[in-house]
Amino acid sequence: MPPVEAPRLGTDASGPLEAAAPPEASAPEASLPAPTLASAQAPDAGGSSSACNEQAPQDFLVRGHFLKEGPSGNARAIQYRTDTYGYFKGFGHAGPDAKPPGANVVTTTFMGLSVKMHRKVVPALACVEQEIRTACADHPYTAHALAGIRYKNTYRGGEVTNHAYGIAIDVDPAINTCCGCVPPWNDAPACHRTAKNEYDRMAMPECWVHAFERYGFYWLGHDVLRDTMHFEFLGDPDRIEKTPEGQDAGTP
Ligand SMILES: [Zn+2]
Repeated sequence: MPPVEAPRLGTDASGPLEAAAPPEASAPEASLPAPTLASAQAPDAGGSSSACNEQAPQDFLVRGHFLKEGPSGNARAIQYRTDTYGYFKGFGHAGPDAKPPGANVVTTTFMGLSVKMHRKVVPALACVEQEIRTACADHPYTAHALAGIRYKNTYRGGEVTNHAYGIAIDVDPAINTCCGCVPPWNDAPACHRTAKNEYDRMAMPECWVHAFERYGFYWLGHDVLRDTMHFEFLGDPDRIEKTPEGQDAGTP
């Protein structure tokens, strides 16, 4: 296998695995009710009445940033995710009561499809869907396959995929490929034709990317992996929902 073009720690052992049988299908699942956001379902003329605060990904969690810092940057990102989403065995320092991310995974829906995600990020996903349904109406696209939590790490070299924490979602891996990953992903015809940018190499509308980005998700199409199917929530989960007063619920 050719190495993935990624700096330092970044070598994905096998590329995204989601086109194969989804590993999450056979994994344990917590029987927790999915959080709901009443106001996220309301008819909306724009993002301003969203139930969620707009937020950007936290820099220290963005792969392209923490890899530049070497092992300490990767360790920091792992520890934050361990503390926030759960202990992925073998990575980071777990407290005595630490549970795996899977203990807080729920089945939710996104654009009419079922997907298993960490319960903390479900409200953000609902707001992304609402945004897509309003802002992307002129760019019709029907998703056919999603992949959420994964119980095996698909990175090597010390990184942990955000799928392992239940905070990453892949949209239609078969038609939104990963040109910086290993075969067969980088063999896709879309990787070998002339294109203006990464948006031009996928079937999903660019508009969807911006909808995700509005609510704290990072699109891995920006990364050297060029993983266009993949979004990961790198915002602050405590800031997702607006307070009843409409104020930002974040820390001062
Ligand atoms: Zn992915």
